[in-house]
Amino acid sequence: MAEESTNFVHAIINHDLETNKYQQKVHTRFPPEPNGYLHIGHAKAICLNFSTAEKYHGLCNLRFDDTNPMKEETEFVESIQEDIHWLGFDWQDRMYYASNYFEQLYQYAVKLIQDGKAHVCDLNPEEMKEYRGSLTEPGRNCPCRNRSVEENLQLFQDMRNGKFQEGEKVLRANIDMASPNYNMRDPVLYRIQYSNHHRTGDSWCIYPMYDFAHPLSDAMEGITHSICTLEFENHRPLYDWVLENCGIINGPQQIEFARLNLTHTVMSKRKLRYLVENKLVTGWDDPRMPTISGLRRRGYTPGAIRDFCDRIGVSKANSMVDIGLLEHCIREDLNKNASRVFAVLDPIKVVITNYPEDQTEMLTVENNPEKPEEGSRQVPFGREIYIERDDFMENPPPKYYRLSPGKSVRLKSAYIIDCQEVIKDENGNILELHCTYDKDTKSGQDKSGRKVKATIHWLKAEESIPAEIRIYDHLFAKENPDDIAPGEDFTQNLNPNSLQVKQNARIEASLQNAKAPQNFQFLRIGYFVPDYDSSPEKPIFNRIVSLKDTWAKVQKKNESV
Ligand code: ATP
Ligand code: MG
Repeated sequence: MAEESTNFVHAIINHDLETNKYQQKVHTRFPPEPNGYLHIGHAKAICLNFSTAEKYHGLCNLRFDDTNPMKEETEFVESIQEDIHWLGFDWQDRMYYASNYFEQLYQYAVKLIQDGKAHVCDLNPEEMKEYRGSLTEPGRNCPCRNRSVEENLQLFQDMRNGKFQEGEKVLRANIDMASPNYNMRDPVLYRIQYSNHHRTGDSWCIYPMYDFAHPLSDAMEGITHSICTLEFENHRPLYDWVLENCGIINGPQQIEFARLNLTHTVMSKRKLRYLVENKLVTGWDDPRMPTISGLRRRGYTPGAIRDFCDRIGVSKANSMVDIGLLEHCIREDLNKNASRVFAVLDPIKVVITNYPEDQTEMLTVENNPEKPEEGSRQVPFGREIYIERDDFMENPPPKYYRLSPGKSVRLKSAYIIDCQEVIKDENGNILELHCTYDKDTKSGQDKSGRKVKATIHWLKAEESIPAEIRIYDHLFAKENPDDIAPGEDFTQNLNPNSLQVKQNARIEASLQNAKAPQNFQFLRIGYFVPDYDSSPEKPIFNRIVSLKDTWAKVQKKNESV
């Protein structure tokens, strides 16, 4: 017996189980078109299809919907498999291609012709448009609608055999040119296309339309619940018409849900592809991209993405989800699991003038306060250290509690230091700070009674190593990148500051050999992961997300209103 339903799709399935519609079977599929990399919207569909099958002890297939040879490539087929596995789902031995069914689909089309339910049409696109009518006007039957079955069969075979040019003929269903639903006004089932297909090569020059191929592919695989996005709702009568008229009894049913839209990003593969092809990003896996491969490189974990998909839920109403929620999910995961380390993004040197020159002292630092079982490590401390340039101000405003001339701060897990002198070059640029430390204030053994208002992070200069740090912001400055003036295009909303590179950062030497997906909290700065380009000679880290949780804050405010 299934658990209590948690969304409307599950409610439909529960009902089907009660009425025994599919002999207690639940079989779903995820049907990507291999014309790009998967994005976070696809993750929603993947989670829904695979988790639904799991919940009901059913099955979920992976099916490549490769009916459009123009844009499809093997590279995409491979990346899609990698991404689904990475998310933690598995189709076992059920990976299929719509192109595997081309012969069967052709035979179904022949059957429709034999039954007088489809015809070969000669109209060109403009004529076809004219015959289709409008919202207020019914369409008219195409003059070719009266062709005999024999003639249609011959013409369709000639289409297959390459006797016509592209666009010269199509196969159309005979449904109802007066239907209020455009999709039912004698829709096209097959078109001619002379392009090489990534799997079938040149063996076909006619290709089935999605609306014809999809229901039949579902049926051939024994799918029970064909879950798709809302824009196909008006296609459902056609989905059902194809099944019924091809003689399929008790076939699959289409269920539509709202697609995911996220603020500050675009989700259409066409647009993502445009960004890649025009080098507006470094590739499909640019850490700013909403693609699964981009999120992976950025340092997102599969758990955080699945958590996000759970939280947004499944509904029938289109909406825009705040990207802050996605960031909240990864932050929660990292707060629990990331090791804490010291790194200084924009270093300024501090010389502790009363500390012995050749002395190095090892201090104990906790690895993760959220996981005491991960213990602690030893961090070197000495006369020369780096602190963050931000943590010093020569002329601070009131209430600035970090370092400034004559003021004191605590160095995390070390001592309190007092700023004595600012050393500058001849142009007035700050070279270094001279401070003294108070040896009675060692963390954990401090009996001095001294109180300071701020604690800052630091690194012993000599033992620290240089690193490049990449700080990312939203790919698009506007919440809705499609909000554009006439004549503009969406790339005008790209955020010019979406990548900021810190070339002179310093990190703990322990990070030299770190490799993704191992992630870290750089204390007081944010969460980071080694980039794919990182090497022990040149460590490079991506900022996954900052520490500040704007989304959680907004939620709190909303609750208190
Ligand atoms: P795009 O418009 O970005 O090209 P698509 O829907 O054409 O997307 P497909 O490869 O056909 O891309 O999608 C595979 C499956 O993923 C479909 O079932 C589709 O409905 C679903 N899907 C695509 N985008 C989203 C989204 N933003 N939210 C939820 N599901 C989505
Ligand atoms: Mg599609």
